Amino acid sequence: MREIKEGRGSPHGGVFLDIAWIKEKIADAAAHIQRKLPSMYHQFKQLADIDITQEPMEVGPTTHYAMGGIRVDADTQMSNVPGLFAAGECAAGINGANRLGGNSLSDIIVFGKRAGEFAAKYVKEHGAGQVNNDQIDEAVRRSLEPFERGATKGGGAEGPYQVQAELQEMMQDLVGIVRTEDEMQRALDGLGKLWERTRKVAVYGHREYNPGWHTAIDLHNLMTVSEAITRSAIERKESRGAHFREDYENKDAAFGKVNTVVSKAADGSMQVRREPIPVMPEHLKQVIEEMK
Ligand SMILES: Cc1cc2nc3c(=O)[nH]c(=O)nc-3n(C[C@H](O)[C@H](O)[C@H](O)COP(=O)(O)OP(=O)(O)OC[C@H]3O[C@@H](n4cnc5c(N)ncnc54)[C@H](O)[C@@H]3O)c2cc1C
Repeated sequence: MREIKEGRGSPHGGVFLDIAWIKEKIADAAAHIQRKLPSMYHQFKQLADIDITQEPMEVGPTTHYAMGGIRVDADTQMSNVPGLFAAGECAAGINGANRLGGNSLSDIIVFGKRAGEFAAKYVKEHGAGQVNNDQIDEAVRRSLEPFERGATKGGGAEGPYQVQAELQEMMQDLVGIVRTEDEMQRALDGLGKLWERTRKVAVYGHREYNPGWHTAIDLHNLMTVSEAITRSAIERKESRGAHFREDYENKDAAFGKVNTVVSKAADGSMQVRREPIPVMPEHLKQVIEEMK
């Protein structure tokens, strides 16, 4: 990331990663690489016609996984909304700031099962609950707004794709892998402007299959998640796991004891606060001791 930011990036905005050099060290280097990295070897060979056992590959930092997420109860996976459960990458789960490779798949299997079981138990005990038709009508009205704007503004209104692309580029540039206060504050300003445009995007055409309409709806979620990431990353004045701050390069023990919680205030604004990490229950501590 630093190499790219300082203008020494590769032609497509990445860097060259060379693992072929290992042939200087071991005899059967090509076979060794194919054995150690079979899927990487095949992907580069088939998709880019590059033999990584012989030549450098162009790679770039990108978003891989969301390590924050919906707050859930550790046992049941129920969110703060009674009867609403979350599991997998959308949930703030077991990973903290540093998901270990491969952990996501075991996470979704273990906690997906738990969420399903507790959701079934919940519905048996509480019934299906009351549907609030006013809230549904409001959600339908909001979902259809982009069509209304499209109809009233003719062809002149902005569609969702341009806003989405600018959001993507800005988050990559300013709230990416290497973070600073100054850049993230600029991102917050940028998000403010993008929110205004998000609320005005218009779509046209069909209502049965219309990717533009889906993007217009998704955009609100992308904006919300981007703002939550930015605000909580500004608040966490340290580096930990995948959250790397160039202006606070070390871990801060005080932050090791808290979670950053983002919630919606009564006026609709986003609020960030720190809360102590819950203490692990004794029976779980015992399980861990036994596993050791
Ligand atoms: C390039 C890459 C490589 C990875 N490699 C690994 C690996 O080697 N090992 C590992 O453990 N993990 C890996 N991961 C992470 C792992 O793949 C994901 O964390 C995991 O698949 C997430 O599963 P999920 O079911 O929680 O979410 P998702 O798979 O994202 O499922 C969410 C689903 O919800 C749907 N959806 C979204 N919005 C709506 C809506 N409004 N209405 C209805 N449906 C909706 C989406 O279409 C999607 O089908 C990798 C991730 C990436 C990006």
